[in-house]
Amino acid sequence: MREYLQFFIDGQWVDPVTPVTADVINPATEEVSGQISLGSADDVEKAVAAARRAFPSWSQTTRAQRLDVLKSIQAEYEKRLPDLGDAIREEMGAPASLAGGFHVGLGAGHLQAAIEVLEEFAFEEVKGTTLVLKEAIGVCGLITPWNWPMNQTCVKIFPALATGCTTILKPPQLAPYSAHILSEILDAAGVPAGVYNMIQGSGRKIGTALTTHEDVDMISFTGSEPVGIQIQKDAADTVKRVGLELGGKSPWIVLDDEDLAKNVAAVTVGMMGNSGQTCSAGSRLIVPNARMDEAKAVAKEACESVTVGDPNGNFAMGPVVSMDQFKDIQRYIQLGIDEGAELIAGGSGRPEGLDKGAYVRPTVFLSNNQRTIDRDEIFGPVLVMSGYDDIDQAVDMANDTTFGLAGYVNGKDVEQCRAIGRRIRAGWINLNDGFDFHAPFGGYKRSGNGREWGEHGFEEYLEVKAILNYAPAD
Ligand code: NAP
Ligand code: MG
Repeated sequence: MREYLQFFIDGQWVDPVTPVTADVINPATEEVSGQISLGSADDVEKAVAAARRAFPSWSQTTRAQRLDVLKSIQAEYEKRLPDLGDAIREEMGAPASLAGGFHVGLGAGHLQAAIEVLEEFAFEEVKGTTLVLKEAIGVCGLITPWNWPMNQTCVKIFPALATGCTTILKPPQLAPYSAHILSEILDAAGVPAGVYNMIQGSGRKIGTALTTHEDVDMISFTGSEPVGIQIQKDAADTVKRVGLELGGKSPWIVLDDEDLAKNVAAVTVGMMGNSGQTCSAGSRLIVPNARMDEAKAVAKEACESVTVGDPNGNFAMGPVVSMDQFKDIQRYIQLGIDEGAELIAGGSGRPEGLDKGAYVRPTVFLSNNQRTIDRDEIFGPVLVMSGYDDIDQAVDMANDTTFGLAGYVNGKDVEQCRAIGRRIRAGWINLNDGFDFHAPFGGYKRSGNGREWGEHGFEEYLEVKAILNYAPAD
């Protein structure tokens, strides 16, 4: 049993102002795995005051000083890799190899990227007679979701610290352990008091206290569309900057060529990774109608090859994050069936042999890009396929969505992949499975307005100042 009852405020581990605890449930067993404290607005007051006090000195530190701090964090992060992996497996049910591998690795990757960007970043530039300065925006509230807990926290905290901001993290109640360990890492690394603070608790309480606070200059939020909308409204009265990284229903176009089977199989298996709980998941597979029989057969076989079970065992997929999430996904699977989509693999209920835990069957539907399962973000291991007759139609289908986070194209004709990539209205386009910690990540349309990762992640946390006649012409 884990007991993570204290918050990290002003460089100290402190008790909540009013003690309230909540159980954390392990989704693999449906049993209590530990407890956290739920904070209140009083805790937020303390943290914001600490972050405000720390801002003048932290924002004036040199690049070298901030690099030293980030490198000490890196050394401490390295020491806690196994602990972080265990925490992520337990809090959200990711298989041990995934939790201790890619989950933890994403956090390390963003930290390394922040160091690389900080080494080179141009904080000032003379343009004509004017000096253009980029300065830390101030005190930042960081509100994160549970689905890739280290990715989401690290992609905010490190650019914020690197640019000279001070921060208050509000981690998700469903995945609070890894954030607690991350806070221990920042503590051990000697981050100056008040520069980084962490309060656990509910989004309604802690989140709202941050989003409405006079003394918080910016909110960076990753999570669902409805909460993002609420945050933007709540933040409006204090005119703070709000960065939103919201959901997606991203298209994956597979070209009609000799790699079709390989690509359909890879997309299907990939969709089930992290139990389908990835904002940028390619959850709409768009395949040529001319090859539909083959695509269906391949997707069925690939889907049925995905093993599901105990995150401690040797399975490709664990449970989803909670029984609420399980029920939500079941509702979508039933809706797919009721609305007439063709079930190709998987379906309702738990996989055979599992009668407890939030385990969902990896599922593939054939649909038409128009049903509820084609439109809504399901956030579970459910892939929806649709067919296209020609590339123009494939692109129209890809763009026929309220979201615009990611888009994928796989095919042998690189020029065609590039051309299609340019036509997809989304922020993060991936041709034949690329990966880049320095590529800007964020959404068009209802997928949000922010850009994280690498250099663009820095810009989020910076104000722009012009000093005119700074360099007068002689
Ligand atoms: P969520 O329900 O929107 O919650 C996200 C965070 O917001 C949690 O910490 C939550 O606190 C907090 N929150 C809830 N209500 C709030 C309010 N009124 N004011 C301020 N904060 C509030 O999202 P989720 O279920 O954790 O995560 C899944 C969603 O995140 C999906 O839609 C997914 O697509 C999206 N996502 C997007 C990206 C991206 O980069 N674009 C990445 C990953 C995930 P609680 O602890 O109380 O829940
Ligand atoms: Mg939620």
